[in-house]
Amino acid sequence: MLGATGSIGVSTLDVIRRHPQRYQVFALTACRSVEKLYHQVLEFQPRYAVMTDADAAAELRQRLAATAVTTEVLAGADALVDVAKADDVDQVMAAIVGAAGLLPTLAAAEAGKRVLLANKESLVMAGPLFMRAVEEGGAQLLPIDSEHNAIFQSLPGQYQGDFTQHGINKILLTASGGPFRGYSAEQLQQVTPAEAVAHPNWSMGQKISVDSATLMNKGLELIEACFLFHCQPEQVQVVVHPQSVIHSMVQYCDGSVIAQLGQPDMRTPIAYGMAWPERIDAGVAELDLFALAQLNFEAPDATTFPCLQLAADAFAAGGTLPAVLNAANEIAVEAFLAEQISFTAIPTAIRAAMQAHTWQAADSLDDILQADDWARHFTRDWLAHACRQEDAF
Ligand code: NAD
Ligand code: MG
Repeated sequence: MLGATGSIGVSTLDVIRRHPQRYQVFALTACRSVEKLYHQVLEFQPRYAVMTDADAAAELRQRLAATAVTTEVLAGADALVDVAKADDVDQVMAAIVGAAGLLPTLAAAEAGKRVLLANKESLVMAGPLFMRAVEEGGAQLLPIDSEHNAIFQSLPGQYQGDFTQHGINKILLTASGGPFRGYSAEQLQQVTPAEAVAHPNWSMGQKISVDSATLMNKGLELIEACFLFHCQPEQVQVVVHPQSVIHSMVQYCDGSVIAQLGQPDMRTPIAYGMAWPERIDAGVAELDLFALAQLNFEAPDATTFPCLQLAADAFAAGGTLPAVLNAANEIAVEAFLAEQISFTAIPTAIRAAMQAHTWQAADSLDDILQADDWARHFTRDWLAHACRQEDAF
């Protein structure tokens, strides 16, 4: 469990809790939330607990010493990689947020694990490299992102990446539209972090909640879909569907559209990925269509929410551009959450980073990590500079 204390981590542990005969936790990891991890360790008693923050690890070790639990506490980012590829591990839930998830998720792929991919940022940053690692390592990559999980469920079982062979016309990638759906650019200038993280349908971590509000989440998901399902952005239509009940669809050449529906509850895709090809109880309430009554659809507003197009541009450019997009977004979202910049400065900063970046091929992990690092520095500097210069920030 990479990222055990987060929103996806907690939902995953809830699924595991319902199936004690079926699953055993090998390692739980977190960045620095000692309190949460401590209670999770007491309940699930994994062989290892990893905290990337050394002080947090020391504190956890001390607290566990006073209990009967024999879990060994490891510290540092290297330990994430070690547990992700350990021999006794069958499946790895990749639920760290952001680029910090790349190395352990990649290690799990290289080691041939079943990789349950929630951490979309690692695929966005390093798509070709990551997909190669999956293939060479003999890993099973199962998408946990609800849309991609729905697409996976709606594609033919034998799908290997060829749309034509299976009569597939298009992927219909649904989006809730986030809390600011229908807002004008002027209205967006004024929105606060508290408003941005209050998602209408899903309860999620702060970063992905802001991404949903800017539509960058859909942009990252567009890239994620292109890598996972071997297709081009033109073959993916984003459909705004405010109820978040249809989690995505696949349109076939005979006019059929196959969709996956369900409550907006991540335990459904998590349980699906964990048990695939079987199905297990996820603790999710039945969908009540009578109570729901309506499903609505509209086109995305790509002008007011430029992040979607920025992501499509980054994918089209390829090389190091997706890593730059991702890193600039992480820094800008952090600054917005810290109330240092306005909501509308997020896409402006990302665009500036993409324009300033010198394109490079992303043949190696080093190329990607260097681009990531460059974009973080650039965006921090750019925001600090722009903050002083323009009232808009
Ligand atoms: P979150 O912020 O709730 O949790 C993040 C987890 O990652 C925590 O356990 C934290 O300790 C750990 N973490 C953070 N920084 C770290 C670092 N530097 N090193 C090691 N660990 C670190 O996030 P979340 O909402 O659970 O999202 C996790 C991932 O899943 C993201 O990539 C997100 O895009 C994806 N995802 C989430 C949802 C959702 O419903 N929450 C849905 C689809 C995809
Ligand atoms: Mg999603």
